Amino acid sequence: MFHPFPAGQAEEFASRLFAWFKASMRPLPWRIRYDPYDVWISEIMLQQTQMERGVSFFLRWKDRFPCVESVASAPEEEILRYWEGLGYYRRARLLHAAAKLIVDRHGGRIPDDRDELLALPGLGDYTANAILSIAYGQDIAVADANVERVFSRLLDIDAPVKDAPARSFIRQEAQRLLPCGNARIYNQSLMELGALICKKHALCGQCPVQGWCLANQRGTVKVRPVQGTRSAIENVVSAHALIIYGNSILVHKRDDAGSWGGMWEFPGIICHGPDIMGELADFLEHLGLSMVPLQHAGHITHNYTNHRLTAHFFRCEAGHSCFPHMEGMPPERQRLIPCAELGSLAMPAHHRKIAERLFNQTARRNAG
Ligand code: SF4
Repeated sequence: MFHPFPAGQAEEFASRLFAWFKASMRPLPWRIRYDPYDVWISEIMLQQTQMERGVSFFLRWKDRFPCVESVASAPEEEILRYWEGLGYYRRARLLHAAAKLIVDRHGGRIPDDRDELLALPGLGDYTANAILSIAYGQDIAVADANVERVFSRLLDIDAPVKDAPARSFIRQEAQRLLPCGNARIYNQSLMELGALICKKHALCGQCPVQGWCLANQRGTVKVRPVQGTRSAIENVVSAHALIIYGNSILVHKRDDAGSWGGMWEFPGIICHGPDIMGELADFLEHLGLSMVPLQHAGHITHNYTNHRLTAHFFRCEAGHSCFPHMEGMPPERQRLIPCAELGSLAMPAHHRKIAERLFNQTARRNAG
């Protein structure tokens, strides 16, 4: 049984919240003009990203891609390079596709119509609602993880916030408390409250809406929000070959599917048994690259979604009589590139780390 916010107090609640927000909000770059493009990019970038990191990526992105047209006309590889480090690269590819459609269908203007937004790749309910309310001021409440946490405590919701009943109750209450014509400040205030005050370790003594907080009154703040069952971490092992030919190294481009689609990496495989070097050697032979001996050059551990990946890298110097080429792999998906220029390619984080460690090319990252 969920308890709705008390009737007749929504106005006072909003007034306290807004006063706090005006005095305490962080000067985030997309809050300067609340331009629809800025709101869109920031919302996509901030998914699964810490705010500080998101701001620095946003500023760098805006420097290179100041408007929708500049995204639409850029090659995908450059988009991915500027996204590198944020992870979840599918978001970047979908954003690129959406930018092209916005230019083609809407003359470069981000739509202010819900159906038109939802027809764009990568824009779901949440992002569409964020753009409509924060950029265009439409009366729609949005509930990200911060807002869910605030409401789970404010209303002392004793069910997992990601499950349908609590989820829809939170959205219904958030919408009911929205004062008409103030969606931008309302949504931003609640998100900011969740980010700065109603954090994992809540600062209830500084909270502008403490007087309405059921969890605070009942002493349940520490057990709200209720978490659902988490899926277990899956360990994954991969092996990759660093095939060096003179001053160059062989890389291949992944196909567009999956977490790192469209990015460049050192050829390799997911391993299924303990003999990872043997599995890698078989894989290379299959590609016409039977280049033993392989020498272990290091490993990188990388966590993503519910996976813990341990990627092993093996070094192999190809002799001058053995030009490295992957049989059966289209020419546009393989390259022999000078080691010093690896920084110009978009690469998954674990490949980037080993490249930086072994070839010391950090300074060239994102250059050019
Ligand atoms: S009183 Fe504490 S728990 Fe309640 S909304 Fe404020 S910060 Fe969150």
